[in-house]
Amino acid sequence: MNLHEYQGKEILNSFGVEIQRGIVATTPEEAVEAAKKLTEETGTGWHVIKAQVHAGGRGKGGGVKLAKNIQEVKDIAGDIIGMNLVTPQTSAEGKKVHQVLVTEDVYYPGDSEPEEYYMSVLLNRATGKNMIMYSTEGGMDIETVAEETPHLIFHEEIDPAVGLMPFQARRVAFNLGLSGQAFKQMTKFVSALYKAYENSDSSLFEINPVLKTSDDKIIAVDAKVSIDDNALFRRKDYAAMRDIREENATEVEAKEAGLSYVDLDGNVGCMVNGAGLAMATMDLIKQAGGEPANFLDVGGTADAERVETAFKLILKDPNVKAILVNIFGGIVRCDRVAQGIVDAYKNMGTINVPIIVRLQGTNADIAKELIDNSGLDVQSAIEFQEAADKVQAVLS
Ligand code: GDP
Ligand code: MN
Repeated sequence: MNLHEYQGKEILNSFGVEIQRGIVATTPEEAVEAAKKLTEETGTGWHVIKAQVHAGGRGKGGGVKLAKNIQEVKDIAGDIIGMNLVTPQTSAEGKKVHQVLVTEDVYYPGDSEPEEYYMSVLLNRATGKNMIMYSTEGGMDIETVAEETPHLIFHEEIDPAVGLMPFQARRVAFNLGLSGQAFKQMTKFVSALYKAYENSDSSLFEINPVLKTSDDKIIAVDAKVSIDDNALFRRKDYAAMRDIREENATEVEAKEAGLSYVDLDGNVGCMVNGAGLAMATMDLIKQAGGEPANFLDVGGTADAERVETAFKLILKDPNVKAILVNIFGGIVRCDRVAQGIVDAYKNMGTINVPIIVRLQGTNADIAKELIDNSGLDVQSAIEFQEAADKVQAVLS
């Protein structure tokens, strides 16, 4: 589960990581109140207004702006709240902005040497260790840095059983070229950041930029935090941070129905039981000249109700030109699934795209008969290739 910048910063702050302080606002009036409060608390004269959406690159899209007085706070907040923010990481339609974070300005006016670094903490699956990835080239796209100047990206591997050793935090500060007070502050920053990662069931922390001010403070200016979905049951406080407005509506609905669904860009909807079979089915669709419109695992119990829900979810996508149902009846009997499909189809009235059903396993032959005799516009198949050929035929 992804979090907003302001939520990520809250978590960082709770573990002692220095952050650029801010207050979230949903109206220009609230933004003004927030700005005044921040000036009282931090002494900041200028403020930054930052769109809160689940996408990076907000600065480039006009979603991060500096306000030099209260009137500007109000005007900029008014412009950003409600806008469709388009960034290199959103679709062409962009993301609707519901709230902004009003922050203190931490890039002091006249600061001649603010340094921006990149830092993230994540799991390195290849080594089975946690990893701090960092770079002197902060503030910009880390993918670009990786492509053009890969030698400027450093890695520190941390054995989760041992934890971050003090020498490792020092090595980070050293590789970033720091000395004196800044060096000391950076080792503190890195230790607190790792502690936050380790104790929050997160799968990713990405701070870009980490700022070094000219008076040697080290501050998290941005925060991208992902909490491991599998830990949310024991993280009620973090689970409450979910903002479903930021998530794909169909995926949210699927999750509520207990289906595992991922929206994709293609034209063939698929309904499958089992993640492995779903992957194979997506390959099959590609081979047949189509593109999968989704990943959908209906799980073990493919009864009429679940099948109907799945059909409805798939049909919400206007790009879907055909649906391929590919279900293996191991525990669940194929004839019951077939009956479920027929019932769901009848319940839904008309379905305007061709449906190809491949049922294999226990009672596959009875299932095929059921489909063939249903009088519905559903084609049946038993072999994988047969199903692929039928998909190809309806697409061409
Ligand atoms: P992103 O574009 O979505 O990654 O959003 P960031 O939070 O990283 O902000 C984008 C950019 O805004 C940063 O790289 C900074 O250059 C700038 N910025 C952020 N905070 C401040 C601030 O307090 N003062 C000034 N002057 N610029 C800031
Ligand atoms: Mn950023």
